[in-house]
Amino acid sequence: MGVLTAERPAVAPARRETMIVGGERVEAADGRTFFVESPARRDSAIAEVPRASAADVDRAVRAAAAAFPAWRATHWRERARALQRIADGLEAHAEEIARTLSMETGNALRTITRPEVKGAADTLRYFAGVASEVKGETVPVGSGMLSYTLREPYGVVGAIVPWNVPITIAVWKIGPALATGNTMVLKPSADAPLAVLELGRICAEHLPPGVLNVVTGLGEECGAALAEHPQVSKLSFTGHTDTGRSVMRAAAERIVPVSLELGGKSPQIVFPDANDDATVAGVIAGMRFTRQGQSCTAGSRLFVHASIADDFLRKLTAKLATIRIGDPLDEASDMGAIASRRQFEKVCGYIAEGAEQKGARLAIGGLPPTQGPLAEGYYVQPTVIAQVANDWRIAREEVFGPVMVAIPWTDEAEVLRMANDTHYGLAAYVWTHDVGRAIRTAHAIDAGFVQIGQGGGQLPGQSYGGFKQSGIGREVSLEGMLEGYTQRKSVTVNLSY
Ligand code: NDP
Repeated sequence: MGVLTAERPAVAPARRETMIVGGERVEAADGRTFFVESPARRDSAIAEVPRASAADVDRAVRAAAAAFPAWRATHWRERARALQRIADGLEAHAEEIARTLSMETGNALRTITRPEVKGAADTLRYFAGVASEVKGETVPVGSGMLSYTLREPYGVVGAIVPWNVPITIAVWKIGPALATGNTMVLKPSADAPLAVLELGRICAEHLPPGVLNVVTGLGEECGAALAEHPQVSKLSFTGHTDTGRSVMRAAAERIVPVSLELGGKSPQIVFPDANDDATVAGVIAGMRFTRQGQSCTAGSRLFVHASIADDFLRKLTAKLATIRIGDPLDEASDMGAIASRRQFEKVCGYIAEGAEQKGARLAIGGLPPTQGPLAEGYYVQPTVIAQVANDWRIAREEVFGPVMVAIPWTDEAEVLRMANDTHYGLAAYVWTHDVGRAIRTAHAIDAGFVQIGQGGGQLPGQSYGGFKQSGIGREVSLEGMLEGYTQRKSVTVNLSY
């Protein structure tokens, strides 16, 4: 993992972090720490970070619970103003946060982390804008009675976020939770906690103490303690489907609601009329190659019609060959490094297995170099394995790396069956200029987030979340905010009493 365990590295990192609890910067109660590694340089510690235990999580949850009554009673206008100020703060510190993100995640500064910070500010502004929309309905129950609903916050939200785009996913939870009057304890991944701590410090400047707390630690210690804490009234998790299952189990013990944004193995369906450069560029964007494929919405199964497959793959690989891989902080790099040793080894394992399958053809990429500058970090080239069958492990499991499989098809009904033949259902990409066919296909795919003719990511306001084992609940949208972070109360008045 990016975490170098608790062992002290030979060269102590310059950066020493603290957590944010009750508006204060704190160490772990028992003084334990861990070290965060740079994916661009193997075994190099960039920061020493508190390793929170259950006692630290308890302290943070108590701080959030103490802050809840006043925050809930705060006018939505003030809550919205606070989110706007946090967005201003993010923008004011955008460059340093983007650089921190690049150092800890391996994502390239120019193509990924600078846009990520800007997008995070936009998301916070979106939720500031909809903070006034927390309202209920009147219900027709007959004369003599007035029945209406209210939407109320849950209380303390426990939020657990992963390492791939830590700031983006943190604000997807902070924005709606705080706009609706909840308070929060946020746990970033131990692989990438630094930018979230920077965001937490900005939040602490603009929020009453305890409204937003950040605890750092290992998933099985700190994350599990947060999921199990009796005073957490709502859990919001993004990460692996198996971890999501364990968070859901913890929620089941206490009957608390849980939102889960989990894995994906998203299809990209290319029809015969889409054998063009715009589709090639869109397919590359949809696969999130410049984010090393480390995205839950990565369109990693390319279903390309057999009549154009060879030509399309030629164009695709020619374009992929122009992607410049290198140090995430280098302005010339389009694509950086895989986030951690653990993830790097996992990705390499899938490439080795997939490329060795009988009949498979490695169209581009493959196992990473073992010598030269790219061998210094966890770099993997864009990889496409062609002539893959939809039932191979590489076509079924989430690699979470720059690895795409290409599966040829001839019949429309067959490609829809293959696209839906997965236990995931997060995203899908449809590539055809025939509008009717595109819309028919989009409607036939079992996925929560479908795009036609474009491969971009989620924008504020778009309902985002998964079908099947890709998750429960929606994010980044007004309905996600209302359904995920408020509970309805029904009030009935007897008018003749
Ligand atoms: P995890 O699900 O382990 O990590 C996500 C978050 O959950 C992290 O903050 C992690 O902490 C925390 N966590 C881990 N174990 C527990 C636990 N028992 N209770 C509560 N929280 C816990 O993902 P990984 O980092 O292991 O990534 C592995 C795979 O997950 C990837 O290969 C990819 O398939 C998928 N993934 C999906 C993402 C998405 O956006 N849908 C994002 C990231 C990964 P810590 O990291 O400190 O252990």
